[in-house]
Amino acid sequence: MLTKKSRCPRLLSACLRGMALILLLCLPLQAVYADTIRIALRAHSGAARDMAKWQPTADYLSSQIPGHQFVMVPFEDLVELTSAVGHSDFDFVLTNPANYIELEMKYGASRIATLQNLRHGAAYTQYGAVIFTRADRQDIQELNDLKGKTFMAVSPTAMGGWRMAWRTLQQNDLDPSRDFAALKFSGGIQEEVVHAVLRGDVDAGTVRTDMLEGMARNGEIDLHNIRLVHTVKAEGFPFMLSTELYPEWPFAKLKPTSVDLAKQVAIALLAMRRDQPAALSGQYVGWTVPLDYQPVHDLLKALRVGPYQLYGSFSWADVWHRYWPWFITATFVAFAAWLAVIYVFRINQHLRKVQRELQTARDTLEQRVQARTEELETAKDMAEKASHAKSEFLSRMSHELRTPMNAILGFAQLMEYGNNPPLPESHQSNVREILLAGNHLLALINDVLDLATIESGRLQLDMKTLDIRDTLEEVQRIIQPLAECEQISLTLESCKQGECTVVVDSTRLKQVLINLLSNAVKYNHPGGSVTLSCLRNEKDQVLLTIEDTGIGIAKHQLEKIFDPFVRLDSNTHIEGTGIGLSVTKQLVEAMGGTIEVDSQVGKGTRFRITLDAANETTT
Ligand code: ADP
Repeated sequence: MLTKKSRCPRLLSACLRGMALILLLCLPLQAVYADTIRIALRAHSGAARDMAKWQPTADYLSSQIPGHQFVMVPFEDLVELTSAVGHSDFDFVLTNPANYIELEMKYGASRIATLQNLRHGAAYTQYGAVIFTRADRQDIQELNDLKGKTFMAVSPTAMGGWRMAWRTLQQNDLDPSRDFAALKFSGGIQEEVVHAVLRGDVDAGTVRTDMLEGMARNGEIDLHNIRLVHTVKAEGFPFMLSTELYPEWPFAKLKPTSVDLAKQVAIALLAMRRDQPAALSGQYVGWTVPLDYQPVHDLLKALRVGPYQLYGSFSWADVWHRYWPWFITATFVAFAAWLAVIYVFRINQHLRKVQRELQTARDTLEQRVQARTEELETAKDMAEKASHAKSEFLSRMSHELRTPMNAILGFAQLMEYGNNPPLPESHQSNVREILLAGNHLLALINDVLDLATIESGRLQLDMKTLDIRDTLEEVQRIIQPLAECEQISLTLESCKQGECTVVVDSTRLKQVLINLLSNAVKYNHPGGSVTLSCLRNEKDQVLLTIEDTGIGIAKHQLEKIFDPFVRLDSNTHIEGTGIGLSVTKQLVEAMGGTIEVDSQVGKGTRFRITLDAANETTT
């Protein structure tokens, strides 16, 4: 808290800085030509007093380092000093330890010597602070009693004049802003704090160590009127003390200052004797090598002031500064993940679309297959019905045709053999033609009737176990005249007794064999041969083979000869209907057998019927 009184020394300080400048202009010619070396000075006792105290030190340096004119520039306000050092052309700084730490961290100030203070005739390189009250204040015996009291310090940034005491209060669980009734500052003047406490303006106060002893020695105060609120003992330190000890003021070079000049200044300071006017004026013994200022760092950190104002608080800038590679990596990973998610999402979308299309296609296909199946079933039904109707029709027609056909043939035979009176020769040949054509037509009708009967599913078989050797001989006898007529030899190779027993309809088996043998004769040439053979194989099957040496059948036509009404082009001059083989195959299969054919054009044809052999023989 600044008072009106505290502003006056500042004005004075400004005037003095102006005067220091004028002084520079008025310096002897030799001095003007010399390099001016500016030392920023912390003037905590007031600009005038501190200039009087410290300028001789600057003069000492000027005298020791030729070609350089050292000038002290006083600053009562530490903020002003810090700002001036940062922005103006200063070479060195002489200030309190806390301010030095700030300048070190902000502007690269670097200590070259530490002050050896003269106290009671001895040299001290450390100092502390006292926390005191008036001796008659019985209500303030210890630090805790300061709660609710008013307190005065030198300035918010003073090291010995406030921060050392503040640290001690903090270590004793006292928070000035919370626990004090009021915290006042003297505007940078140590003595003013002492007077304020003695006057009773405030209940207690703090100043740097040896200040009270010094004022008492000068007769300004009587130490009996003062009592420490908190006392600390430090070995080899004779002054009243309420806090820890901290290193004395450093003399520091600023960053732009050359190392060579800094070295010369350090040597001059370290070489200063205690009887030098500068030391006498400054009330110190001399200078020593720079001390360790870590305790000052620790104090500022604990109080979170000066360069450590933001210590412990974590700004976004700090986070970024420390973790930026992680942030960039995380951002990159997140971006990649985002892209992957979008990619997967797109693929899923596409998959869903394709699935929908597939489903639609499948539904459509199913509908089409169903419709087509229904169509086919309808067509099949219609075809079956048509086939059935056709078979029915043929069957009926055949019956209807057979009756008049038999009548025609009967009457034709009567006419052929009638001899009352006998037919003239010319009519007899006509009757023979009628009989020939009639028999052919009757055979055709019978075949059609058989086919129709089989296809309509009305075929009835009279299946019996039968030794077929007799059947084979009977069939041979039937075909023999036809073979002789065509000049073809017919041979029967029958099997042994008991080997050719099968379960068949004997009439239908005869029909099958007659059909195959008559074809073998028909599609043969004079001098050819036909063989009917029978044998039983190791699979207990009876094999009936009809083999001829006829015209043969081309390979590509073999598979269709069992279809009804199929006649090969090469045989159209030979009489036939194209139904025989179809009926034959269906009859064989109806009796549980199989029929197969192989042939070679010009060499002959072989049909083979396979029937399962039976053991019992019934005739
Ligand atoms: P078809 O009344 O015409 O003889 P088939 O159904 O009995 O009718 O015979 C069908 C056709 O098979 C015949 O037209 C004939 O061309 C051929 N075929 C049948 N058997 C023989 C055979 N043994 N040799 C040569 N061709 C034959």
